[in-house]
Amino acid sequence: MQNNTYEVVVVGGGAAGLSAALVLGRSRRSVLVIDAGEPRNAPAGHMHGYPSRDGMAPAEFLATVREEVSAYGVQIISVRVTEAVADGQGELDLTLADGRQVHARRLVVATGLVDELPAIPGVAERWGKDVLHCPYCHGWEVRDQPIGVLYPKGGGVHQALLFRQLSQDVILFLDGVSEDAVPNVEWQLLQAAGIGVVSGSIETLEVTDDRLTGVRLTDQHVLSRTVLVIPPRMVPRDDLLSMLDAKKNDTPLGPFVETDATGMTSVPGVWAAGNNTGPAEQVVNAASAGYRAAVAINANLTFTDAERAAEQRRAGVFTAANEQAAARARAAQTAEERWSA
Ligand SMILES: Cc1cc2nc3c(=O)[nH]c(=O)nc-3n(C[C@H](O)[C@H](O)[C@H](O)COP(=O)(O)OP(=O)(O)OC[C@H]3O[C@@H](n4cnc5c(N)ncnc54)[C@H](O)[C@@H]3O)c2cc1C
Repeated sequence: MQNNTYEVVVVGGGAAGLSAALVLGRSRRSVLVIDAGEPRNAPAGHMHGYPSRDGMAPAEFLATVREEVSAYGVQIISVRVTEAVADGQGELDLTLADGRQVHARRLVVATGLVDELPAIPGVAERWGKDVLHCPYCHGWEVRDQPIGVLYPKGGGVHQALLFRQLSQDVILFLDGVSEDAVPNVEWQLLQAAGIGVVSGSIETLEVTDDRLTGVRLTDQHVLSRTVLVIPPRMVPRDDLLSMLDAKKNDTPLGPFVETDATGMTSVPGVWAAGNNTGPAEQVVNAASAGYRAAVAINANLTFTDAERAAEQRRAGVFTAANEQAAARARAAQTAEERWSA
């Protein structure tokens, strides 16, 4: 960080951010990745559903990608970005938690989301191990096991049905929701799928030898379960996007940043990718979103520079930098034409 100006700064070094950095590094852009080091799936021992990396430890996956991007000259630093200010023309100034300042010609915000867990004793400690949320991340691993699904605030029936695809022994915990509050159509679906329903409130989780063994209700009944599926409240880490006044859309899960298909936000020069754009982004989707954003940013910078160079040439200013930018633009344009041919 001797020179604190980069063509692209990527905030967030998870799958989305590193994937963007890989593409931009390979496009010979000067890229800085700034990462606070709290990827969402850190509590899980294994990552699933990423072709060719199925079952890899999340930390190993990220270490591998860090190595790959570093080989293209991308710099990675471990610190939090605390402030972002846009100049309205596409360029940005960032302040880091250690006081350093960085200038970015373009910004990728790939900061992920935070899972807010229900305040049931034991849930936070077992999160990512046998307290789970996602049938695609861990479903196969818990197939045929006795699975409990937490109902509150909706979504529970949906999850119970998806986990019923993986195990015949699924029960739904109402956890304080009255039976009358469950819509008739949901009762019908649960009955048809052979999913039992347990009324009452959960007191705590029972754990033996570092394994979930049961769910204790406040009436002291213990239901033997080795897996509990919960609905975390998924809150985007979008402080920087809020600071930049990026437009958001209301969704059933709360507001998420508005982007176009490439991840471009309403703020000039700012793209968003990965879980901060939506809760359904799995690792492979987050990586794909980072890739799309990177391609768009590379084209955006290329054409911005080419147009500036062309303008200066028209004005009779011939500089080495202009000539280089013009040559780069010609090459990019040829590539673009090849794509659209
Ligand atoms: C328990 C669990 C298990 C999962 N298992 C799977 C699985 O098996 N397969 C799968 O496909 N998906 C899985 N997921 C989902 C997966 O975690 C996400 O899809 C993925 O992490 C999204 O990547 P991302 O790059 O958007 O965000 P993240 O991976 O969360 O990375 C965001 C990064 O940005 C950093 N950051 C945030 N704010 C700042 C800031 N201001 N300054 C600097 N850095 C910042 C964070 O510290 C973090 O390192 C799982 C999720 C959970 C909770």
